[in-house]
This record gives sequence, C-alpha cells and structure tokens, in this order.
Amino acid sequence: MPERTCIACKRKTDQASFWRVARDFEGRVALWRGLGRSAYICKQLECLEGAMAKGRLERALRGAVSNEDKRVLREELICKLR
Ligand SMILES: [Zn+2]
Repeated sequence: MPERTCIACKRKTDQASFWRVARDFEGRVALWRGLGRSAYICKQLECLEGAMAKGRLERALRGAVSNEDKRVLREELICKLR
C-alpha cells in the first residue's frame, strides 16, 4: 500500500485514509478528480483548515488555487465530516 503524507500535519499513512485533491481537466481543484499531481489531507477538520492555510495547497499542487475553488472544496469536505 503506497504511503502518502498529509499536507497539513505531515502524518504518513496509506492513501485510502486521506482525501485526495487534484486538478480537473479545466484546472479547478476538487476532490478525487483528475490525474497527476495531487494533495492528501487527513479526513478531519483540523487538517482541512491547515491545508487551506499558508499556501500549503498551492505548494502541493505546484500552482495557484483560486479562493473560489478553496471555498467549494472546503464546503464539500466539511459536508463529508457531518
Ligand atoms: Zn493531517
């Protein structure tokens, strides 16, 4: 099982334990879409907020992430926690 690292807390574990975030064909950043470079985030609010802060998502995906993409993604992931 390949190990991945949470971009917020740096915890390493198997890929299935994380949300995977990547760019779709139009360049929007979203959950479980697209191939190539992706970011992994623990399925908890603390890491979700941490991933959105301090440019961590941008660094992991090597490029700008719009505030709108972040807002939509954050709402989607928070819904999954409920
Ligand atoms: Zn984490």
